[in-house]
This record gives sequence, structure tokens and C-alpha cells, in this order.
Amino acid sequence: MSNAMLPQDVARALLSVEDAQRRIMDVIKPLPPVELPLLEAWGCILAADVTAEYDIPTFPSSSMDGYAVRAEDIRGASASSPVSLRKVGEAPIGHPPADPVGPGECVWIATGAPVPEGSDCIAPIEEVEVDGDTIRVLKEFGPGSFVRPVGQDLRTGDVVVRAGRRLLGAELGVLSSAGYPKALVHPRVRVAVLSTGDELIEPGDTAAYGQITDANSFTLCGNLAEAGAVPLRLGIVADDEDKLRAAIMDGLAEADVFITSGGVSVGQRDVVKRILDGLGTIERYKVAMQPGAPQAFGIVDGKPFFGLPGNPVSVFVSFELFIRSALLAMMGHTSLTRPEITAVLEEDIGGPPEKARYSRVLVTGTPGAWRARPTGAPASHLLATVSRANGLAVIPAGTAVANAGDEVAVSLFRDRRLLDGEG
Ligand code: AMP
Ligand code: MG
Repeated sequence: MSNAMLPQDVARALLSVEDAQRRIMDVIKPLPPVELPLLEAWGCILAADVTAEYDIPTFPSSSMDGYAVRAEDIRGASASSPVSLRKVGEAPIGHPPADPVGPGECVWIATGAPVPEGSDCIAPIEEVEVDGDTIRVLKEFGPGSFVRPVGQDLRTGDVVVRAGRRLLGAELGVLSSAGYPKALVHPRVRVAVLSTGDELIEPGDTAAYGQITDANSFTLCGNLAEAGAVPLRLGIVADDEDKLRAAIMDGLAEADVFITSGGVSVGQRDVVKRILDGLGTIERYKVAMQPGAPQAFGIVDGKPFFGLPGNPVSVFVSFELFIRSALLAMMGHTSLTRPEITAVLEEDIGGPPEKARYSRVLVTGTPGAWRARPTGAPASHLLATVSRANGLAVIPAGTAVANAGDEVAVSLFRDRRLLDGEG
């Protein structure tokens, strides 16, 4: 196969970051909803409103340990003038109450047990003196006191959880209490991740001179897991067209999305770009950004395919800019971006003015007074600069130099603890 440019190749065009993002988001669709058992649905987005099929609570129950009584019997009760009642039974938890409460009577009741017939009020144990089968109630309580009414939480037909809500612990709990063992959700995206390059070895293997350890698939799999996707690490494939094609076909059978790193630039051994056009509609282009200029994107076998450059920082930044939002959209999220803050730069950031620059920075300070310090040189092989950072400062295309003291937008990719310098 030749290296000649194919018609759909826009490789020499320089796209803006926004154009490149738009091209991707234009063809991304949420994955069709599936019904999953509640525990598997954790973290997923609910695809349709769930409504209550019955009132919750379903029966009136006690919210205290104490005695089920008739409110009218204990009217006026006080420590100096207690009301004596006769205990006629016990209301067990988890069973229908057996003993009704008649005038002058009471029934022992535990928290959560159904309130027996005849009773409309619970006298908590703390407000009662017990003397064999006689109790003395030391305080007046009105009708309904310490009784959890039917339907107090949800009424039949109420929305239990709305479509679009991410299912976390509280949502799983309420769905379960509404009697639903499963939920209709947008499933987690399964993403195949492949590192390409003759020079790559697995971590822990001994490198011959000139070999390097695969970083990209680990960066990607970690970031995929964080985004709620299911990473499928396919490992390393050498720069061999047949092996790569076979690995991609295998991975596509398992995955909803495919990501490769390496081999999309103009070098001699750039095999990804040579085989992609044979597999689907793939565009190769350069994005006016640093790092991470050469990119490939398209649909292979109906599935989004991201061909990232090989440099490790480019991979991290490309994931942040192009892949993360796409995956979140596929998983039904509507909030697709990282939190963004404005921070004051502590050092100059240079670079080519015609490109947007994404500088790894450590943000410190407090809201309204954030400060951003680059964590190292901008070169795209310096991966430790990412692991020391908590944000990407964005210097837009058209800005020559962002100077120390300038305000910059920073997209935060780590939580507040690191922001505060703690973790
Ligand atoms: P490429 O895009 O294949 O030309 O690779 C660009 C640079 O990234 C080269 O220095 C590669 O050795 C390096 N690189 C490619 N893949 C990986 C990887 N999986 N992990 C670490 N570095 C890589
Ligand atoms: Mg390579």
C-alpha cells in the first residue's frame, strides 16, 4: 500500500481544536439503553424516569422504640400526673401486628414495626415508666406522633429517579426500596486500547538499548476507568500492518470504541494511517494545538475510532480534549467538560502563537485567588509533568506569550485535595 494521500485525508489541513471537537461530537450518539442489575448500574446514567408503583412507606410504622397507644388516652399526661396503661401485647417487626390497642391499653413496639390497629401514636420508651404489665406515660403526645405515615416518602406515580440522573448510592437505594432490582441505563462504554510501536515493551520487562516501556495504554486505561468507561487493554502491537489490522479487528469485536496511540504522523513506520482507510471512514488531520497535533478519527465498523499520536503527553491531552467528552456523551451524560477555573500564571508560557497550548500546571490557592504554575518544560515526552499537575492551562491560538501575572483558564483534571497541595 502506498503512502499517497487519500481523498478523505485532510491531513495537511490545520483544524482548530474546536473544529476537531465538533467533527467528533457530530457523529457521537449515546449507547442504546440496557437494563442492568442495580449494582452493575452504579455510576451509569438513568435512561428513563422511574415512577413509584406503590406508596412508600407501604404501611404505618413506628419511628421509635416504645409503646403504641391511643393519643386520646394520654392527653394531659405529665411527670407529675402520668397516665397508666395496660400492656396487652407486642408488635413484632417484619410481621403484621397481632394485638390491637383498645382504650386504656398499649402494645410494645420496636422502630419500624407496623402500628397496631386502634393505635395512632407512639409513646417513646424514654417517656414511659414500666412496672410489669403496667406502663406510666409521662408526657402527652398528639395523634400521629412517631408514626411514619403511608406514602410519606413517595406516592404511587411519583418519580423515584429522573432520567439523566447518575445512579450513585442514594439512587440505587431508593430504586431498591421502590422494588426495582434493575435499572434502564446507558451502559458503560467498552474501549479497546492499543499501543503501537516497534520500540515498546511491557512494564517490568528489561529494555534493550533503544526500547521504551509502554506508557500510553496505562494512561488511557486509567483515564477511561475514571470516566466510567470499561478499559480493554489490548497491549502492544509492533509496527506491522497485518498484525495491527488483525489486532484492531479482534478489538472491535469486543469494544464500542477503539483507541490507538502512535503511528499517525508522517514517519516511515506510521502504519496506523496506512491501514485505517481500508477499515472504515477515517480522517487524519492536524490540530492547531500543542501538544498532540496529528490525530485520526472516524467510524470503523460503526464504532468511533481515535488514532492518537504516540507522545505520552499528547495522549493525555488528546484524551482530555477529544475522547473524554465523547465517551461521556455515549454514556448519556449531559455535563461533558471538566470544571474550569481562572488562575493567575506564576511563570510565562510561550510556544507557537498559531496553536492552542495546553500547559500542565499545578493550581494552588483559594477560590477567586487561584494560582497556576507550570510543572515542567512543555515537551510532549515529559509525562512526569502531567503526574505533578492538576490542571491544563489553556493558552488560546492567537496569543503569543501568556506572561506571569496573566489570567488563564485552567481545566481541572484532579480533585480539590491536590489543588490544596495535599494529595
Ligand atoms: P509515533 O507517534 O509513533 O511516531 O511516536 C511518537 C513518540 O512517542 C515516539 O518517541 C515513541 O517512542 C513514543 N511513543 C509511542 N508510543 C508510546 C507508548 N505507548 N508509550 C510511550 N511512548 C510512546
Ligand atoms: Mg510509533
